[in-house]
Amino acid sequence: MKIKFTSILLAALTLGFINAAHAESNEAECIPQSEMQAIASHFTQFANLANGPLCNDNSQNWHLISSIMFMRKTQFSADMPKSKDELFSGRFASSWYDYYIGRISEIEVVSNCPKGVVAYVYAFGGSAMYVCPMALTDTFSNLDRASVMMHEARHLDGFPHITCSKGARKGIQGACDVKIADGGSYAVTVETYAQLAKYAEGIHPAMRAYSKSSAVVYADEAFENPVRINRSETLLALTNDAKFYSVSAQGETKQLGSAVASGKIVKRGQHMIIFPNDKSVKAQYVFANDEGQIAQSPNDFVTEYNAQTPDQKANLVDLHIGAQWSARVYKNKVTLICDPKSPAQTDISLPAGKVASNLVYPNGYARDVYTVQLLTESGDAIDLSCANKVASMKPSTLRLDQKYARIYKANGAVLGLLGGKLYKIDGDRSTAIQTAIDGNIAEITSQQSFEFFAN
Ligand SMILES: [Zn+2]
Repeated sequence: MKIKFTSILLAALTLGFINAAHAESNEAECIPQSEMQAIASHFTQFANLANGPLCNDNSQNWHLISSIMFMRKTQFSADMPKSKDELFSGRFASSWYDYYIGRISEIEVVSNCPKGVVAYVYAFGGSAMYVCPMALTDTFSNLDRASVMMHEARHLDGFPHITCSKGARKGIQGACDVKIADGGSYAVTVETYAQLAKYAEGIHPAMRAYSKSSAVVYADEAFENPVRINRSETLLALTNDAKFYSVSAQGETKQLGSAVASGKIVKRGQHMIIFPNDKSVKAQYVFANDEGQIAQSPNDFVTEYNAQTPDQKANLVDLHIGAQWSARVYKNKVTLICDPKSPAQTDISLPAGKVASNLVYPNGYARDVYTVQLLTESGDAIDLSCANKVASMKPSTLRLDQKYARIYKANGAVLGLLGGKLYKIDGDRSTAIQTAIDGNIAEITSQQSFEFFAN
Protein backbone atom coordinates (compact mmCIF):
# COMPACT_ATOMS: atom_id res chain seq x y z
CA MET A 1 0.00 0.00 0.00
CA LYS A 2 1.23 3.45 -0.81
CA ILE A 3 1.08 5.97 1.99
CA LYS A 4 0.79 9.50 0.73
CA PHE A 5 2.96 12.13 2.47
CA THR A 6 0.72 15.05 1.73
CA SER A 7 1.97 18.49 2.57
CA ILE A 8 -0.62 20.87 3.90
CA LEU A 9 0.61 24.35 3.36
CA LEU A 10 -2.64 26.29 3.73
CA ALA A 11 -2.56 30.04 3.66
CA ALA A 12 1.06 30.51 4.53
CA LEU A 13 2.45 28.97 1.39
CA THR A 14 -0.48 29.13 -0.96
CA LEU A 15 0.08 32.85 -1.10
CA GLY A 16 3.63 32.91 -2.35
CA PHE A 17 5.53 35.78 -3.79
CA ILE A 18 7.61 36.32 -6.83
CA ASN A 19 11.25 36.65 -7.53
CA ALA A 20 12.19 40.28 -7.11
CA ALA A 21 14.26 40.40 -10.27
CA HIS A 22 11.23 39.16 -12.11
CA ALA A 23 9.02 41.72 -10.41
CA GLU A 24 11.21 44.57 -11.44
CA SER A 25 11.72 43.79 -15.08
CA ASN A 26 9.91 42.10 -17.89
CA GLU A 27 13.07 41.16 -19.72
CA ALA A 28 12.96 37.69 -21.20
CA GLU A 29 14.29 35.24 -18.67
CA CYS A 30 16.00 32.22 -20.13
CA ILE A 31 17.83 29.24 -18.74
CA PRO A 32 20.90 28.51 -20.92
CA GLN A 33 21.22 25.24 -22.77
CA SER A 34 24.21 24.18 -20.65
CA GLU A 35 22.04 24.37 -17.53
CA MET A 36 19.15 22.65 -19.28
CA GLN A 37 21.47 19.77 -20.19
CA ALA A 38 22.79 19.51 -16.63
CA ILE A 39 19.23 19.37 -15.28
CA ALA A 40 18.06 16.91 -17.95
CA SER A 41 20.99 14.61 -17.17
CA HIS A 42 19.23 13.91 -13.87
CA PHE A 43 15.59 14.68 -14.67
CA THR A 44 15.36 12.80 -17.97
CA GLN A 45 11.75 13.94 -18.36
CA PHE A 46 13.18 17.30 -19.50
CA ALA A 47 15.54 15.81 -22.11
CA ASN A 48 13.42 17.07 -25.00
CA LEU A 49 13.73 20.63 -23.62
CA ALA A 50 17.52 20.55 -23.45
CA ASN A 51 18.22 21.14 -27.14
CA GLY A 52 18.46 24.88 -26.50
CA PRO A 53 17.77 27.50 -23.85
CA LEU A 54 14.40 27.47 -22.07
CA CYS A 55 12.71 30.85 -21.79
CA ASN A 56 9.86 32.01 -19.55
CA ASP A 57 6.61 31.07 -21.26
CA ASN A 58 4.71 30.81 -17.96
CA SER A 59 4.35 27.06 -18.58
CA GLN A 60 4.34 24.44 -15.86
CA ASN A 61 7.71 23.16 -17.09
CA TRP A 62 9.14 26.67 -16.90
CA HIS A 63 8.02 27.05 -13.29
CA LEU A 64 9.41 23.64 -12.35
CA ILE A 65 12.75 24.08 -14.05
CA SER A 66 13.29 27.67 -12.93
CA SER A 67 12.68 26.46 -9.36
CA ILE A 68 15.30 23.77 -9.86
CA MET A 69 17.57 26.55 -11.12
CA PHE A 70 16.85 28.53 -7.96
CA MET A 71 18.12 25.57 -5.93
CA ARG A 72 21.17 25.21 -8.18
CA LYS A 73 22.14 28.86 -8.26
CA THR A 74 21.17 30.67 -5.07
CA GLN A 75 24.30 31.62 -3.19
CA PHE A 76 24.52 31.80 0.58
CA SER A 77 27.04 33.26 2.99
CA ALA A 78 30.12 31.07 3.38
CA ASP A 79 29.56 31.01 7.11
CA MET A 80 25.99 30.44 8.35
CA PRO A 81 25.99 30.40 12.16
CA LYS A 82 22.98 28.71 13.71
CA SER A 83 20.45 30.69 15.71
CA LYS A 84 20.53 30.77 19.50
CA ASP A 85 16.93 29.56 19.45
CA GLU A 86 15.39 26.81 17.30
CA LEU A 87 14.80 28.79 14.07
CA PHE A 88 17.94 27.77 12.25
CA SER A 89 20.23 24.82 12.92
CA GLY A 90 21.94 24.79 9.51
CA ARG A 91 21.49 21.03 9.21
CA PHE A 92 20.02 21.40 5.70
CA ALA A 93 22.26 24.30 4.67
CA SER A 94 24.63 22.49 2.31
CA SER A 95 23.74 22.19 -1.39
CA TRP A 96 19.98 22.15 -1.71
CA TYR A 97 20.17 20.83 -5.25
CA ASP A 98 22.38 17.88 -4.31
CA TYR A 99 20.04 17.07 -1.44
CA TYR A 100 17.05 17.20 -3.76
CA ILE A 101 18.45 15.10 -6.60
CA GLY A 102 19.71 12.58 -4.06
CA ARG A 103 16.07 11.73 -3.42
CA ILE A 104 13.89 12.93 -6.31
CA SER A 105 14.41 12.00 -9.96
CA GLU A 106 10.97 12.66 -11.42
CA ILE A 107 8.45 15.46 -11.01
CA GLU A 108 4.89 14.76 -12.04
CA VAL A 109 2.22 17.43 -12.32
CA VAL A 110 -1.17 16.21 -11.10
CA SER A 111 -4.48 17.93 -11.59
CA ASN A 112 -6.78 16.71 -8.81
CA CYS A 113 -5.40 18.13 -5.57
CA PRO A 114 -7.48 19.02 -2.49
CA LYS A 115 -7.64 22.71 -1.49
CA GLY A 116 -4.44 23.75 0.27
CA VAL A 117 -2.23 20.93 -1.02
CA VAL A 118 0.65 22.00 -3.26
CA ALA A 119 2.78 18.85 -3.52
CA TYR A 120 3.22 15.34 -2.18
CA VAL A 121 5.33 12.21 -2.36
CA TYR A 122 4.60 8.56 -1.51
CA ALA A 123 6.29 6.83 1.39
CA PHE A 124 8.47 3.86 0.45
CA GLY A 125 7.52 4.48 -3.14
CA GLY A 126 10.27 5.51 -5.49
CA SER A 127 11.66 8.93 -6.23
CA ALA A 128 8.78 10.86 -7.75
CA MET A 129 7.43 14.15 -6.45
CA TYR A 130 3.86 15.13 -7.36
CA VAL A 131 3.08 18.80 -7.82
CA CYS A 132 -0.36 20.41 -7.85
CA PRO A 133 -1.14 23.06 -10.51
CA MET A 134 -1.59 25.76 -7.85
CA ALA A 135 2.16 25.61 -7.19
CA LEU A 136 2.97 26.22 -10.85
CA THR A 137 1.58 29.66 -11.46
CA ASP A 138 2.89 33.18 -10.95
CA THR A 139 1.31 33.24 -7.49
CA PHE A 140 4.19 31.06 -6.32
CA SER A 141 7.83 32.05 -6.50
CA ASN A 142 10.84 29.92 -7.23
CA LEU A 143 11.82 30.57 -3.67
CA ASP A 144 8.54 29.07 -2.40
CA ARG A 145 8.83 26.11 -4.74
CA ALA A 146 12.42 25.44 -3.75
CA SER A 147 11.31 25.31 -0.13
CA VAL A 148 8.47 22.94 -1.05
CA MET A 149 10.85 20.70 -3.03
CA MET A 150 13.23 20.43 -0.09
CA HIS A 151 10.28 19.69 2.21
CA GLU A 152 9.05 16.89 -0.06
CA ALA A 153 12.51 15.39 -0.48
CA ARG A 154 12.82 15.16 3.30
CA HIS A 155 9.73 12.94 3.40
CA LEU A 156 11.66 10.32 1.44
CA ASP A 157 14.11 10.07 4.33
CA GLY A 158 11.14 8.67 6.29
CA PHE A 159 9.53 11.69 7.94
CA PRO A 160 5.72 11.67 7.78
CA HIS A 161 3.45 14.32 9.35
CA ILE A 162 0.91 13.99 12.13
CA THR A 163 -2.45 15.61 12.79
CA CYS A 164 -2.05 18.65 15.02
CA SER A 165 -3.80 18.19 18.38
CA LYS A 166 -3.59 21.87 19.28
CA GLY A 167 -2.58 25.28 17.99
CA ALA A 168 -3.33 27.10 14.76
CA ARG A 169 -3.54 23.91 12.68
CA LYS A 170 -5.48 21.84 15.24
CA GLY A 171 -7.35 18.95 13.68
CA ILE A 172 -5.77 19.17 10.25
CA GLN A 173 -4.39 15.88 9.05
CA GLY A 174 -0.76 16.04 8.01
CA ALA A 175 -0.30 19.65 9.07
CA CYS A 176 2.17 19.18 11.94
CA ASP A 177 5.42 17.51 12.92
CA VAL A 178 6.05 16.65 16.58
CA LYS A 179 9.04 18.88 17.22
CA ILE A 180 11.44 20.90 15.10
CA ALA A 181 14.51 19.18 16.57
CA ASP A 182 13.41 15.95 14.88
CA GLY A 183 14.39 17.55 11.56
CA GLY A 184 11.32 16.44 9.64
CA SER A 185 9.78 18.10 6.61
CA TYR A 186 8.36 21.15 8.40
CA ALA A 187 11.74 21.68 10.02
CA VAL A 188 13.12 21.79 6.46
CA THR A 189 10.48 24.38 5.55
CA VAL A 190 11.45 26.58 8.49
CA GLU A 191 15.19 26.09 7.86
CA THR A 192 14.97 26.94 4.16
CA TYR A 193 12.97 30.14 4.71
CA ALA A 194 15.17 31.16 7.63
CA GLN A 195 18.32 30.50 5.60
CA LEU A 196 17.00 32.51 2.65
CA ALA A 197 16.02 35.39 4.90
CA LYS A 198 19.29 35.51 6.81
CA TYR A 199 22.01 34.23 4.51
CA ALA A 200 20.96 34.28 0.82
CA GLU A 201 22.90 36.66 -1.38
CA GLY A 202 21.27 38.96 -3.91
CA ILE A 203 17.77 38.59 -2.50
CA HIS A 204 15.44 41.59 -2.68
CA PRO A 205 14.86 43.07 0.81
CA ALA A 206 11.08 42.61 0.54
CA MET A 207 11.54 38.93 -0.33
CA ARG A 208 13.95 38.58 2.54
CA ALA A 209 11.36 40.11 4.88
CA TYR A 210 8.66 37.83 3.51
CA SER A 211 10.90 34.80 3.91
CA LYS A 212 11.60 35.78 7.50
CA SER A 213 7.89 36.02 8.30
CA SER A 214 7.22 32.71 6.52
CA ALA A 215 9.88 30.92 8.59
CA VAL A 216 8.28 32.12 11.81
CA VAL A 217 4.71 31.31 10.70
CA TYR A 218 5.71 27.70 10.01
CA ALA A 219 7.74 27.47 13.19
CA ASP A 220 4.77 28.78 15.19
CA GLU A 221 2.07 26.72 13.50
CA ALA A 222 3.39 23.41 12.13
CA PHE A 223 4.70 21.75 15.31
CA GLU A 224 2.99 20.02 18.21
CA ASN A 225 5.71 21.13 20.60
CA PRO A 226 6.18 24.92 20.51
CA VAL A 227 9.36 26.03 18.74
CA ARG A 228 11.58 28.20 20.89
CA ILE A 229 12.07 31.56 19.14
CA ASN A 230 13.71 34.57 20.78
CA ARG A 231 11.41 37.45 19.91
CA SER A 232 10.10 40.79 21.06
CA GLU A 233 6.91 42.67 20.28
CA THR A 234 6.07 46.31 19.79
CA LEU A 235 3.17 48.47 18.73
CA LEU A 236 3.48 49.70 15.16
CA ALA A 237 1.77 52.96 14.17
CA LEU A 238 1.08 54.17 10.63
CA THR A 239 0.51 57.89 10.21
CA ASN A 240 -1.77 59.75 7.82
CA ASP A 241 1.29 60.58 5.71
CA ALA A 242 2.16 56.85 5.48
CA LYS A 243 5.13 56.69 7.84
CA PHE A 244 5.69 53.75 10.15
CA TYR A 245 6.71 54.26 13.76
CA SER A 246 7.31 51.82 16.55
CA VAL A 247 5.70 53.04 19.78
CA SER A 248 6.60 51.92 23.29
CA ALA A 249 3.96 51.51 25.99
CA GLN A 250 5.25 54.79 27.43
CA GLY A 251 4.67 56.57 24.11
CA GLU A 252 8.27 56.83 22.90
CA THR A 253 8.30 56.74 19.10
CA LYS A 254 10.93 55.67 16.63
CA GLN A 255 10.44 56.35 12.93
CA LEU A 256 10.82 53.36 10.63
CA GLY A 257 10.08 53.28 6.88
CA SER A 258 7.20 54.44 4.70
CA ALA A 259 4.19 52.61 3.28
CA VAL A 260 2.85 52.98 -0.28
CA ALA A 261 -0.12 54.82 1.23
CA SER A 262 -1.86 55.14 4.55
CA GLY A 263 -4.66 52.69 5.17
CA LYS A 264 -5.86 49.69 7.08
CA ILE A 265 -3.36 47.00 8.01
CA VAL A 266 -4.54 43.39 8.18
CA LYS A 267 -2.33 40.78 9.80
CA ARG A 268 -1.83 37.31 8.36
CA GLY A 269 0.35 35.64 10.92
CA GLN A 270 3.62 37.58 10.83
CA HIS A 271 2.74 39.13 7.47
CA MET A 272 1.04 42.51 7.04
CA ILE A 273 -1.31 43.43 4.19
CA ILE A 274 -2.28 47.05 3.62
CA PHE A 275 -5.67 48.15 2.26
CA PRO A 276 -4.93 51.76 1.25
CA ASN A 277 -7.40 54.54 2.00
CA ASP A 278 -6.71 55.73 -1.54
CA LYS A 279 -8.75 53.12 -3.40
CA SER A 280 -6.71 53.58 -6.57
CA VAL A 281 -3.71 52.02 -4.79
CA LYS A 282 -3.86 48.24 -4.65
CA ALA A 283 -3.99 46.18 -1.48
CA GLN A 284 -0.65 44.40 -1.03
CA TYR A 285 1.95 43.13 1.38
CA VAL A 286 3.55 45.94 3.32
CA PHE A 287 6.84 46.06 5.20
CA ALA A 288 7.66 48.57 7.89
CA ASN A 289 11.34 49.19 7.27
CA ASP A 290 11.48 50.38 3.66
CA GLU A 291 12.06 46.87 2.33
CA GLY A 292 10.07 47.77 -0.79
CA GLN A 293 7.22 45.86 -2.37
CA ILE A 294 6.39 42.42 -3.67
CA ALA A 295 4.51 42.51 -6.95
CA GLN A 296 2.18 39.66 -6.38
CA SER A 297 -1.12 39.50 -4.58
CA PRO A 298 -1.22 38.09 -1.03
CA ASN A 299 -4.20 35.87 -1.89
CA ASP A 300 -7.22 35.35 -4.14
CA PHE A 301 -9.46 37.56 -2.04
CA VAL A 302 -7.01 40.47 -2.32
CA THR A 303 -6.79 39.87 -6.07
CA GLU A 304 -10.60 40.05 -6.31
CA TYR A 305 -10.61 43.17 -4.16
CA ASN A 306 -8.00 44.87 -6.33
CA ALA A 307 -10.16 44.28 -9.41
CA GLN A 308 -13.12 46.12 -7.85
CA THR A 309 -14.20 49.71 -8.40
CA PRO A 310 -13.32 52.24 -5.68
CA ASP A 311 -16.98 52.27 -4.58
CA GLN A 312 -17.03 48.50 -4.24
CA LYS A 313 -13.74 48.56 -2.36
CA ALA A 314 -15.09 51.13 0.06
CA ASN A 315 -17.73 48.62 1.13
CA LEU A 316 -15.09 46.40 2.73
CA VAL A 317 -14.60 47.67 6.26
CA ASP A 318 -12.12 45.20 7.68
CA LEU A 319 -10.72 41.70 7.36
CA HIS A 320 -9.60 39.10 9.89
CA ILE A 321 -7.34 36.25 8.81
CA GLY A 322 -7.02 33.34 11.22
CA ALA A 323 -5.07 30.18 10.51
CA GLN A 324 -8.15 28.21 9.50
CA TRP A 325 -10.84 30.87 9.14
CA SER A 326 -11.44 34.41 8.00
CA ALA A 327 -14.01 37.16 8.45
CA ARG A 328 -14.69 39.75 5.76
CA VAL A 329 -16.41 42.71 7.33
CA TYR A 330 -18.61 44.88 5.14
CA LYS A 331 -20.65 47.88 6.26
CA ASN A 332 -23.85 45.92 6.81
CA LYS A 333 -22.81 42.28 6.80
CA VAL A 334 -20.03 39.88 7.63
CA THR A 335 -18.87 36.99 5.47
CA LEU A 336 -17.37 34.13 7.48
CA ILE A 337 -15.30 31.37 5.89
CA CYS A 338 -15.01 28.70 8.56
CA ASP A 339 -13.58 25.62 6.84
CA PRO A 340 -10.11 25.81 5.25
CA LYS A 341 -10.88 22.78 3.11
CA SER A 342 -14.09 24.22 1.66
CA PRO A 343 -14.89 27.40 -0.26
CA ALA A 344 -18.23 27.66 1.62
CA GLN A 345 -19.05 31.14 2.94
CA THR A 346 -21.70 32.29 5.39
CA ASP A 347 -23.12 35.80 5.20
CA ILE A 348 -24.57 37.25 8.39
CA SER A 349 -26.24 40.67 8.39
CA LEU A 350 -25.45 43.14 11.13
CA PRO A 351 -28.36 43.98 13.46
CA ALA A 352 -30.78 46.50 11.91
CA GLY A 353 -29.41 50.03 11.98
CA LYS A 354 -25.86 48.96 12.88
CA VAL A 355 -22.91 49.80 10.64
CA ALA A 356 -19.59 47.97 11.02
CA SER A 357 -16.63 50.14 11.97
CA ASN A 358 -13.49 48.17 12.90
CA LEU A 359 -12.18 44.89 14.24
CA VAL A 360 -10.37 45.24 17.56
CA TYR A 361 -7.86 42.95 19.30
CA PRO A 362 -7.90 43.70 23.04
CA ASN A 363 -6.59 40.17 23.71
CA GLY A 364 -4.04 40.40 20.90
CA TYR A 365 -4.16 39.02 17.37
CA ALA A 366 -3.94 35.24 17.47
CA ARG A 367 -4.22 32.85 14.56
CA ASP A 368 -5.56 29.98 16.67
CA VAL A 369 -8.45 31.89 18.26
CA TYR A 370 -11.84 31.54 16.56
CA THR A 371 -13.58 34.69 17.77
CA VAL A 372 -12.85 38.31 16.96
CA GLN A 373 -14.51 41.52 18.18
CA LEU A 374 -16.13 43.97 15.81
CA LEU A 375 -17.10 47.51 16.85
CA THR A 376 -19.98 49.27 15.17
CA GLU A 377 -20.13 52.97 14.42
CA SER A 378 -22.44 53.43 17.40
CA GLY A 379 -19.86 51.75 19.65
CA ASP A 380 -21.47 48.34 20.14
CA ALA A 381 -19.16 45.33 20.34
CA ILE A 382 -20.08 42.17 18.42
CA ASP A 383 -18.37 38.76 18.54
CA LEU A 384 -17.74 37.16 15.15
CA SER A 385 -16.87 33.50 15.40
CA CYS A 386 -16.06 30.33 13.50
CA ALA A 387 -15.78 28.20 16.65
CA ASN A 388 -16.27 24.50 15.78
CA LYS A 389 -16.45 25.59 12.12
CA VAL A 390 -19.86 27.21 12.73
CA ALA A 391 -20.30 30.83 11.65
CA SER A 392 -21.93 33.04 14.25
CA MET A 393 -22.47 36.66 15.30
CA LYS A 394 -23.61 37.69 18.77
CA PRO A 395 -23.35 40.62 21.18
CA SER A 396 -19.92 40.75 22.83
CA THR A 397 -19.16 41.04 26.52
CA LEU A 398 -16.39 43.50 25.61
CA ARG A 399 -16.98 46.87 27.31
CA LEU A 400 -15.04 49.96 26.35
CA ASP A 401 -15.19 53.55 27.56
CA GLN A 402 -14.59 55.07 24.12
CA LYS A 403 -15.41 54.35 20.48
CA TYR A 404 -11.97 53.15 19.43
CA ALA A 405 -10.89 52.94 15.80
CA ARG A 406 -8.47 50.12 16.61
CA ILE A 407 -7.24 48.16 19.60
CA TYR A 408 -4.18 45.95 19.74
CA LYS A 409 -2.31 44.22 22.49
CA ALA A 410 1.45 44.49 22.09
CA ASN A 411 4.06 43.33 24.59
CA GLY A 412 1.36 42.92 27.24
CA ALA A 413 -0.13 46.42 26.93
CA VAL A 414 -3.58 47.02 25.44
CA LEU A 415 -3.51 50.16 23.33
CA GLY A 416 -6.39 51.89 21.60
CA LEU A 417 -6.45 54.38 18.74
CA LEU A 418 -8.95 57.23 18.75
CA GLY A 419 -8.80 60.58 16.98
CA GLY A 420 -5.20 59.97 15.86
CA LYS A 421 -4.06 59.48 19.47
CA LEU A 422 -3.22 56.45 21.59
CA TYR A 423 -4.76 55.33 24.85
CA LYS A 424 -3.69 52.65 27.27
CA ILE A 425 -6.75 50.53 27.97
CA ASP A 426 -7.32 48.83 31.29
CA GLY A 427 -10.69 47.07 31.18
CA ASP A 428 -13.36 49.73 30.74
CA ARG A 429 -11.01 52.60 31.63
CA SER A 430 -8.40 54.25 29.46
CA THR A 431 -5.54 56.70 29.85
CA ALA A 432 -4.16 58.93 27.09
CA ILE A 433 -0.53 58.31 26.08
CA GLN A 434 1.45 61.26 24.75
CA THR A 435 3.50 60.64 21.63
CA ALA A 436 5.38 62.79 19.12
CA ILE A 437 2.85 61.80 16.45
CA ASP A 438 -0.35 62.63 18.34
CA GLY A 439 -3.26 63.42 16.05
CA ASN A 440 -1.48 61.95 13.04
CA ILE A 441 -1.86 58.22 13.75
CA ALA A 442 -4.08 56.51 11.17
CA GLU A 443 -3.60 52.85 12.08
CA ILE A 444 -1.94 50.63 14.64
CA THR A 445 -0.97 46.98 14.72
CA SER A 446 1.34 44.72 16.69
CA GLN A 447 4.61 43.55 15.24
CA GLN A 448 7.16 40.99 16.36
CA SER A 449 10.86 40.98 15.67
CA PHE A 450 13.28 38.09 16.04
CA GLU A 451 16.75 37.91 17.49
CA PHE A 452 18.10 35.67 14.73
CA PHE A 453 17.12 38.07 11.94
CA ALA A 454 18.16 41.27 13.70
CA ASN A 455 21.33 42.76 12.22
ZN1 LIG B 1 4.85 17.36 3.94
